Amino acid sequence: MVEQRYCFMDGQLSWVWDGGSLVNQSQTSEAWNECVKLLEGIKIEMKSDAWLWRQDETREVFKVNILRTELDSIQSIPETQVLKWLSWIPKKINCFLWRAVLDRIPTREALVIRNINIPSITCALCGSNAETVDHLLISCQYAQLVWTAISLWVKLPLPRYLLSLVRLLEYIESYCSSEEKRKAIYLVTAATCWTLWRIRNNLIFNQKKTQVSRAVGNVKALSFFMDESKGWKNRSGLEGIE
Ligand SMILES: [Zn+2]
Repeated sequence: MVEQRYCFMDGQLSWVWDGGSLVNQSQTSEAWNECVKLLEGIKIEMKSDAWLWRQDETREVFKVNILRTELDSIQSIPETQVLKWLSWIPKKINCFLWRAVLDRIPTREALVIRNINIPSITCALCGSNAETVDHLLISCQYAQLVWTAISLWVKLPLPRYLLSLVRLLEYIESYCSSEEKRKAIYLVTAATCWTLWRIRNNLIFNQKKTQVSRAVGNVKALSFFMDESKGWKNRSGLEGIE
């Protein structure tokens, strides 16, 4: 708590850090010194705490709706980064796909970039490349085998050099002529990405391998489950796919 970290002596504010060395790595200690420097100019008032944001005179109490209004007014979000939000895909899977497109899922590479100590940056599924979003979900040998089977299943010819999730979503957008078909393919794509992520987690955290054929079966089952649970069975493009 902040209040445990400062005291007033002779009317002067001083910070108390318990004398212990909290940081030792040079990179962190630099950040630490910067943080302490920022605190030097801080004026402590005897009021209740509140979250303020922004630095200039517009400093105000933080409210989610103000942030929301600001975000809504930003026009510069690239089109490709905006995912179709399909109500009949479960929220957690929609969220996962959205985060994956933005490169915000905790892959091994993402963890290392955020200074998390992990034993290896290599993809657990193939053991040969760094685990990034695009590697794990698209270009990994394992993922490629799953995508090949799935693309045959939904009769969607995949481009030969498909290397990123964003490109795949753009491709689906341009390839499918009907909205129904596009929705169905989106659903299967979401199911495939989600299944690959689960398989990866199961391998890393439970040391359980999943055969490609089983992975493909899981994608199909999940796709039909999502399709059926929203009553789209006879209307979506999954009709006729067995
Ligand atoms: Zn891999």
